[in-house]
Amino acid sequence: MRRIFALSFVSLALFGAEPADWIVSAHWVLTMDRDRRVLEDGAVAIRGARILAVGSRSQIEASYRGRKLHRANSLLAPGLVNTHTHVPMSLMRGLADDRRLREWLEDYIFPAEARNVDAEFVRWGTRLACLEMMLGGTTTFAEMYYFEDVIAEATREAGLRGVLGETIIGFPAPDFKTPEAALAFNEEFIRRYRNDPWIVPAVAPHSHETTPEAAYRAARSLANRYGVPLMTHLAETRQGREEALKRYGMSPVRLLDAWGVFQGRTLAAHVVWVDEEDLAILQRRGVGIAHCPSSNAKLASGVAPVTRMLALGLAVGLGTDGPAGSNNDFNLFEEMDLAAKLQKVTTGDPQALSARQALEMATILGARALGLEDRIGSLEPGKYADLIAVRLDRAHAVPLYDLYSQMVYALKASDVTDVMVHGRWLVRDGRPLTLDARRILSKAEEYGRRVRASLAQR
Ligand SMILES: [Zn+2]
Repeated sequence: MRRIFALSFVSLALFGAEPADWIVSAHWVLTMDRDRRVLEDGAVAIRGARILAVGSRSQIEASYRGRKLHRANSLLAPGLVNTHTHVPMSLMRGLADDRRLREWLEDYIFPAEARNVDAEFVRWGTRLACLEMMLGGTTTFAEMYYFEDVIAEATREAGLRGVLGETIIGFPAPDFKTPEAALAFNEEFIRRYRNDPWIVPAVAPHSHETTPEAAYRAARSLANRYGVPLMTHLAETRQGREEALKRYGMSPVRLLDAWGVFQGRTLAAHVVWVDEEDLAILQRRGVGIAHCPSSNAKLASGVAPVTRMLALGLAVGLGTDGPAGSNNDFNLFEEMDLAAKLQKVTTGDPQALSARQALEMATILGARALGLEDRIGSLEPGKYADLIAVRLDRAHAVPLYDLYSQMVYALKASDVTDVMVHGRWLVRDGRPLTLDARRILSKAEEYGRRVRASLAQR
């Protein structure tokens, strides 16, 4: 009797193990879940696109059977979230550096865009950006540019997750000559992608300096009609704030609030030049913030009051901004590091913006800012399987005392070895699986020559 019982118990343990597609394990697992659990010798079980379970390796391996990937000297973390960028601008990386924002835009970027940007430029620029992003551990990005349907196709092909909004701007753009035409296209784009698991379509009026009130109002109502987010630049420069005060008698935040822009899910990029009243409005409206420390530093825009925003409970994610002039790459490891350090500089307090908070901004808070917290941003059962493995065996990574400190202040994007999005491996052993790196790099060189030639003939 006792023997039969013991036998059936053994068979239950063997055959009762639930099927999984992958069991990914590592020395450390940074879950970024509600309790911010850090697991030593931890594992994640994955089936299809989603996470089944997260726990100790022994427990997960006893409960699930499936293919295994074990990284003995690495950490696993949720995929990083870039909340603000312009991906096709990768082909204009470093085109005109060390200049004022307005001069940079009007003398270089706008002419270079007018002469070069078409659907194929956008396709190759997106491929280049996706290659760089996936190799550096970014699994989701929010982006606003032109030809957003082409960006969506290239993003799907790479296998990354994108929140994509067609730029609505008050002057002729490379694809549409009026805000009305861009909005009509945007509606088609939303219809096409609103049920796509990888792409979240959005509407993206550019900024109060470049986009008229009517276009902003139309953009908000379009976003609300389909329940998609609105993304915009906001309060990036001191000059922009002064102009808004002079022209409208209101700060940029109060101006967009008066135009009804925050009446629905909104993601605002930069938000540097704000006062307490502005922050109270953003808090009341639940506006998500994309903090872009490299861009704000490089263009001397200033430093956003992130410590204050976090104290108010705002969802603040990290963004690289576009790589042409304002960054010049898609490296969220650098953004985490710089975000933490800039807050210490501006507040005079070394405790301001801890390493853990910086990693929260690059993961779960970024997901919340995008309205995707229930799907991504942490390693938890039910969420999409978007995860990265980061090696811990290089000279700059030993010894290890504190995982959050190591991740934010010491590790580099080039330490990422494996990347999974939606349950699918995009990078293994540092090699991209979904994109042809050689072809993309040679195309990028070709576009570089073309852009340079186009600017020479003026
Ligand atoms: Zn931007």
